[in-house]
Amino acid sequence: MNFPFQFDSTACAACGGRCCRGTGGYVWVSWAELEAMAAARGMNAGLFAKQYARRVQGRLSLQERVVNGEHLCCFFDRIACCCTIYDNRPEQCRTFPFWERYQEDCRELLRECPGVSLDLLHKSSASNC
Ligand code: SF4
Repeated sequence: MNFPFQFDSTACAACGGRCCRGTGGYVWVSWAELEAMAAARGMNAGLFAKQYARRVQGRLSLQERVVNGEHLCCFFDRIACCCTIYDNRPEQCRTFPFWERYQEDCRELLRECPGVSLDLLHKSSASNC
């Protein structure tokens, strides 16, 4: 897939986890991903899912915590500003910011993620970015 932007992951260390917190949303997970996360923590998958996942429209999403009005992924450590299951994070997190929805329009991404910048090589096709 071609994307009209480039991503510098070295910006992540200083950004404060903007993609793991904010106004709320969904971190979709498959059952296999939940099983892998549970195994990494030495937990039973069913108990793990009950504690950390929720069912939304027939799918599974990670739970959120709301702190001072801000929605945080249940695995985001706001003090250390990092993901506490990083090695076992779901595909949605692994593939960020290269999501299909940002192929056509990446304006939101450019506002939110300091690691994203326009790919000047593809600038002519980046009319919505
Ligand atoms: S699983 Fe980790 S990387 Fe994904 S949203 Fe939660 S804290 Fe962020």
